[in-house]
Amino acid sequence: MSDIEIAQKATMLPIMDLAEQKLGVDRQHLDPYGHYKAKLCLDYVNSLGDKPDGKLILVTAISPTPAGEGKTTTTVGLGDALNRIGKKAVMCLREPSLGPCFGVKGGAAGGGYAQVVPMEDINLHFTGDFHAIGVAHNLLAALIDNHITQGNPLHIDPRRIQWKRVVDMNDRALRKVVIGMGGPGNGYVREDGYDIVVASEVMAILCLATDLKDLKERLGRIVIGYKADGKTPIYARDLKAHGAMAALLKDAIKPNLVQTLENNIAIIHGGPFANIAHGCNTVTATKTALKLADYVVTEAGFGADLGAEKFLDIKCRMAGLNPAAVVLVATVRALKFHGGVKKEDLNQENLAALEQGLANLERHVHNIREHYGLPCVVSINHFTFDTDAEIALLQKKCQELGVQAVVAKHWAQGGQGAEELARVVSGIVDNQPGKHSFVYGEDLSLWQKIEAIATKIYGAGAVTADPKVKSQLAAWNDEYGHYPICMAKTQMSFSTDPNAKGAPTGHTVHIREVRLANGAGFIVAIAGDMMTMPGLPKVPAAEHIDIDDNGRITGLF
Ligand code: ADP
Ligand code: MG
Repeated sequence: MSDIEIAQKATMLPIMDLAEQKLGVDRQHLDPYGHYKAKLCLDYVNSLGDKPDGKLILVTAISPTPAGEGKTTTTVGLGDALNRIGKKAVMCLREPSLGPCFGVKGGAAGGGYAQVVPMEDINLHFTGDFHAIGVAHNLLAALIDNHITQGNPLHIDPRRIQWKRVVDMNDRALRKVVIGMGGPGNGYVREDGYDIVVASEVMAILCLATDLKDLKERLGRIVIGYKADGKTPIYARDLKAHGAMAALLKDAIKPNLVQTLENNIAIIHGGPFANIAHGCNTVTATKTALKLADYVVTEAGFGADLGAEKFLDIKCRMAGLNPAAVVLVATVRALKFHGGVKKEDLNQENLAALEQGLANLERHVHNIREHYGLPCVVSINHFTFDTDAEIALLQKKCQELGVQAVVAKHWAQGGQGAEELARVVSGIVDNQPGKHSFVYGEDLSLWQKIEAIATKIYGAGAVTADPKVKSQLAAWNDEYGHYPICMAKTQMSFSTDPNAKGAPTGHTVHIREVRLANGAGFIVAIAGDMMTMPGLPKVPAAEHIDIDDNGRITGLF
């Protein structure tokens, strides 16, 4: 059965009843969006402050292969399994973007028997949060061009505007556009471009904001561009944009409640890119979940070199979160891929390649324990093609590394298939929870922070940048030196070369560009090519998506 067929067979319970039954949240604290989706009211979220926090468990992965390793699926499976063994657990996930949904990757609501539902809604529009984020972003864009048309009293240099427009679609034709054509009545002609909504700084801001006040302040701090000197920043608050932008986000800031196939609560809220942003669901969702449950399982985008690093150094640092353990998702297929096997041949047993590919897992385990300071459990996301010999080899190697590895079959069996994982993970967080450390201290210079990430986590031998980039960082040190770094590099490798599999060392990380995300409160360091507006593939997933006469959707995955 396909993911959507499984999802459509689920027996969903009314979310208002479920929230009360599972978490003791009275229905008066929920805004229903139909029967199976609801938002938590902000005054309720704000009232939870004094309650003790549950344990936070981060799900991350080895360096991903094109298909995705099963982090979302594992997050859902582990959450369901924890509930099955009698623990009160809630999952926190990111909201899917429409771009990948219609492109190669498909939706992001889990898979097999580890899914969140209603999956069609979650994957298509959901509760409208991304729409609101896109409109808030584009409002600021409209205000900028209007300001220039109306005489430009702030002296914005139209050539130095850095605030593009956004749309939630993989649409490469919009990457670079010319706007304002058609004569004086249409404003000034200038070059502009589009990013996908998940790449918007407004998305990162919504995900890091702790409350409405903080949201508004962050929106006001956005640097939209510079005056003609190229140095004096123009802020969104100079355009008096932040109030209206925050007003547009009044509902988007409220966490969304849905359920898993096994009727456990999942909070799905926010979905920033994992390259130019930090790739985690909202701080609001995570903090709320920690108040409502004893265990919170959450996912960070990409592999542990990017997702987990940013989760700790950006999100946990800003929000004061204390994760207790890390689950590292690995698949036999991905390890063989790291061992040099071609994508078409991954379903065949290959012990030699598996052993070679293990270098990737080893490096991630080392990073998690040594540099993030957290206990780590390897969750082997079981695929039907995995052979017993491959699983046995993987477990033996993990044992040699001194890391527990558990085979998890939630994709095929639901929560039942991840009960052992749940027992191992809850055992660790109950008895020996970790105390995380950061990869770099706040007081290092921006360049030193980049060096710390690249050498410690990526295993780089050198970090280079053009003088222009270095002097830009030096100029930012005074005012923004305390900001964390948000690294944008390929997720496919520890290096900046997506084809360098396994665990490369001694490579050079070249920082091509740096950007100030002043509202989000981090500096983006870009190494290698980076796409903020993806394109569609030759055969987009959209071609297979349909709806029948009764409104039943097919082909979504
Ligand atoms: P990630 O969160 O790491 O990107 P997902 O959990 O979204 O990965 O899984 C990516 C895709 O792989 C999904 O379509 C999911 O259904 C599929 N998948 C995950 N685990 C398995 C498995 N054990 N067997 C088969 N397909 C799987
Ligand atoms: Mg995912």
